[in-house]
Amino acid sequence: MSAGKISIKNFSVFFGEKQVLFDINLDIPENKVTAIIGPSGCGKSTLLRSINRMNDFFENMRIQGEIIFENQNIYGNGVDPVKLRQRIGMVFQKPNPFPKSIFENVAYGLKIQGWRDKKAIAQRVEESLKAAALWDEVKDRLHGSALLLSGGQQQRLCIARAIAVEPEVLLMDEPASALDPIATARIEELIKTLKDQYTIVLVTHNMQEAARTSDYTAFLLMGKLVEFGPTHQIFTNPQKKETEDYLTGRF
Ligand code: ADP
Ligand code: MG
Repeated sequence: MSAGKISIKNFSVFFGEKQVLFDINLDIPENKVTAIIGPSGCGKSTLLRSINRMNDFFENMRIQGEIIFENQNIYGNGVDPVKLRQRIGMVFQKPNPFPKSIFENVAYGLKIQGWRDKKAIAQRVEESLKAAALWDEVKDRLHGSALLLSGGQQQRLCIARAIAVEPEVLLMDEPASALDPIATARIEELIKTLKDQYTIVLVTHNMQEAARTSDYTAFLLMGKLVEFGPTHQIFTNPQKKETEDYLTGRF
């Protein structure tokens, strides 16, 4: 296994008195899809949000341990979470485009980064929409409202928005679970095409989705990492009884 671009080390999360992640150690391989699976409430979203400090928004949140991203502890002094989130982008369960045009949704992050050259912005918007497999469907209506797109198109737009600023990592929290089966299949195909360029961490409660799209799988149970390994191995030959019980639906 290649060295992880992201190394989670002895990492715990508390909300007030309640501990929700327990001493997690996990190296997330570069330019692969790593799925995080486990039952509802086991801490998948909390772990994912820890990787780009989205949990900072909860006032009663406290951590122990480190997450190393390119030789730097993202919880160390001098790390700007806003800049971090430009390098580690996120896509949420429910598509959440801004109530703006399709074009402006993708251009938004570029403008925040200080891009001013209209031609360069238009070019990057086009590239991002192409990378998100949405360009052909929207090229004639770029200045129409993003809110008129279907749910699946909106989610691909959110992916285009996330990748426009060229992050190195994409975090996805159940990105297809609000979509119909056809839109889901398109998102899964897209994830597979993006992984050559991005390190992807995919939270899903859908085990078939994890099996279809991911290279590595981490199984979480009650805030603890039970097992991590190549997806094929986790699904065909799990080393831990808890993993086997979960995969076979025994709890
Ligand atoms: P999952 O994504 O696997 O369903 P979550 O990470 O959302 O799990 O939640 C893990 C646990 O942490 C749950 O018990 C949840 O209620 C709790 N939790 C999550 N966020 C907060 C918060 N901001 N304050 C208090 N408890 C939280
Ligand atoms: Mg969740």
